[in-house]
Amino acid sequence: MSTPKLSTIVKATVDALAVAARNFIKPERITVYYPYEKLEYARMRGWIGLWTEKCTSCMLCARICPTNAIKMYPAPNTKRYPGIDYGRCIMCHFCIDICPTDALYPTPIKELAFYDYKEMIYTPDMEREPPKIQEPYKSVKVAIKYEGGIPKKVRLE
Ligand code: SF4
Ligand code: SF4
Repeated sequence: MSTPKLSTIVKATVDALAVAARNFIKPERITVYYPYEKLEYARMRGWIGLWTEKCTSCMLCARICPTNAIKMYPAPNTKRYPGIDYGRCIMCHFCIDICPTDALYPTPIKELAFYDYKEMIYTPDMEREPPKIQEPYKSVKVAIKYEGGIPKKVRLE
């Protein structure tokens, strides 16, 4: 391995000092203090709802799921309805796209938090009822917005 030139070392050092000085004078950060601040969930998809009344138990959703997150649960009416394991789900929404009766639908709920892995496993009854939204105890600010797919920092007071 060849030794770097002195000019390269000097340039790298000056660049590093310039970054340090810039951040000292005008601090910037790319992390957010969740839940007081949050990212804008630009193209992220949300929690999936289910209307069992529309479901024909065709199982297409379970078959197309790339992570095997959907399990069909037997119902008292002899049908089978899908439940989703959100520990596996990658929110691709293939299941929604393929559902021939629109029994599965997207929601804007994108923040899901669980205490335990078992809580991530939603049965069809749970899929019928969107999760309760709890507001953080301080106001939330959007710290990073996406413009044309590129994250832009928003200056916070
Ligand atoms: S959104 Fe994708 S990963 Fe999640 S259950 Fe549907 S098909 Fe499976
Ligand atoms: S694809 Fe739609 S109709 Fe078929 S089992 Fe899944 S939710 Fe029910």
